[in-house]
Amino acid sequence: MPVLRGLVTPLASPLPAPLLSLIADYRLLTNEIVREALASGKTSRGALSRFARDRALVHQLTGQHAVVAADIARTLVKGHRRRLRQHLKPRVPYIRRPFLRTNPHTFHLDPDSGKVRLSLRNGEWCSFVAQLSRYHRARLGGEGVRIKQLQVSPDKAVLFLERPAPKPYAASSLLALDTNESSLDGVSVSPSGSRLVQVPFPELRRIQATHFVRRRELVRKKARDRRVARRLLRKEGTRERHRVRSRLHDLTTRLLDIVVQHHGALALENLSRLPTSRRRVNTRTRRRLSSWPRRELHRQLEYKAADRGIPVYWVNPFRTSITCPKCGEITRPRSRVGPTFTCGHCGWTMDRQLNAGLNVGRTALRDVAELGGLRLDLDALSHDAMRPRYPFAEADGHGRSGRRGRDRKGAPPKGSKLQ
Ligand SMILES: [Zn+2]
Repeated sequence: MPVLRGLVTPLASPLPAPLLSLIADYRLLTNEIVREALASGKTSRGALSRFARDRALVHQLTGQHAVVAADIARTLVKGHRRRLRQHLKPRVPYIRRPFLRTNPHTFHLDPDSGKVRLSLRNGEWCSFVAQLSRYHRARLGGEGVRIKQLQVSPDKAVLFLERPAPKPYAASSLLALDTNESSLDGVSVSPSGSRLVQVPFPELRRIQATHFVRRRELVRKKARDRRVARRLLRKEGTRERHRVRSRLHDLTTRLLDIVVQHHGALALENLSRLPTSRRRVNTRTRRRLSSWPRRELHRQLEYKAADRGIPVYWVNPFRTSITCPKCGEITRPRSRVGPTFTCGHCGWTMDRQLNAGLNVGRTALRDVAELGGLRLDLDALSHDAMRPRYPFAEADGHGRSGRRGRDRKGAPPKGSKLQ
C-alpha cells in the first residue's frame, strides 16, 4: 500500500489576486455541494460531481476543480451522516477557511524554483512561489514519489505526496513497549537475550504543567476581558501543542532509527481497545491524564515505522498491568497495583510499568507467528537489578528546554544542564 503524506510549504509571497478570488469561490462551491448533498440525499460520487460541474459554470470554475470539491464535500457529508447515526447531534459541516484543492492535471510545480503554475479557469493560468527547503526537496526527490494533490490557502501550500511503502522486513528482534505518562517501558528481545528497556520523556509533563499554570494565570488576569483572554489562551494552547509535538517527533525518530538498525519489530498496546476507567479520580488527575498525548505518540510511531519498513504489532492492553508474565496469574483485579507488581501466585516482582511492557512482549511473541524464533527470557530479567535505559537516553543528553533555555544565537546558555 502506498504512503500518503502531506508536505506543508510556506509561500514566498502573497498569492495573486485572481487566485485568491478563486480560492474564495472554491470554498463557497464546496459548502454548496455539502448543502445539496444533505438536502437531496445524494450520496453517489457521480451525482455530486454532476451537480458540482453545473454549479462550477455559475462560479466560473473549471470542471476539474469542481470534481475535487465534490469529493471533499462527499467526505464531509459522510462523516456527518455517521455522526447522525451515532446520535451525536453534530453541526452541519461548513468550511470557514478559504482553500483550494486540485489534482495534478491543473497545476505544475517546478521543484528547483518552487514555482507553481496553476489553472484558474479554462485557458487562464496564474503562478506563485512556494518556499522549498532542503527537507522539502529531499522529500519531493525521493524514490517513486508522486504528487497526488495540491492544497492552497492564503498562507500556505500543502503538497500531498504518494510513495510506495517499503515492504516490512522480517524482524530479527522485538521491542515491546507499554506507554506510560512520562516513559515508554518494556523489553527488547533478541536472539542474544532479553533486556529491560526504558525510554523516558519527563519533559513533556513539565511542559504541560508550565502551560497549565500560565493559562490559569491568564484566565485570572483577563477575567474582565473575555475576548482578549480567548485570544491569548488560544495562542498559549498552540505553543504548548507545538512544543509537545516537536519533543515527540524527536523522540520517535531517534527511537525508530535505533530499532531499524537492529532490524527490530515494534509491539505496542492498542489504545483503541483501552476500556475507559471507572475508577474515581480527582479533577487534577483527570486533567493530567486527558492531556497525555499518547495517541499522538502512537500516531507518529506508526507512520514513521511504516516509512522505515518496521513491522508494528498491536497488542490488546486488557489486563497487561495486572497479569504475571511468568505464570499468567491475574493479580488483584479489583484494586490498584502499586509502583511494584508482585505476583501472589509465584512471587514474581517487577516495576509495574516495566511489567506491563513485559506482558505486551509476551502477548506479541505468543500471537505473532513471524516472531517465532524469539524467546522472552524472564529469569534473566528478574536479576536485572538496574533499570537499563534505551541507548540514546544517555548517549547524547540532548534535550531542549524551549526558547528560554537558549540565548539568541540558539546556543544553550552557559552552565546549562543540557551540555
Ligand atoms: Zn506469577
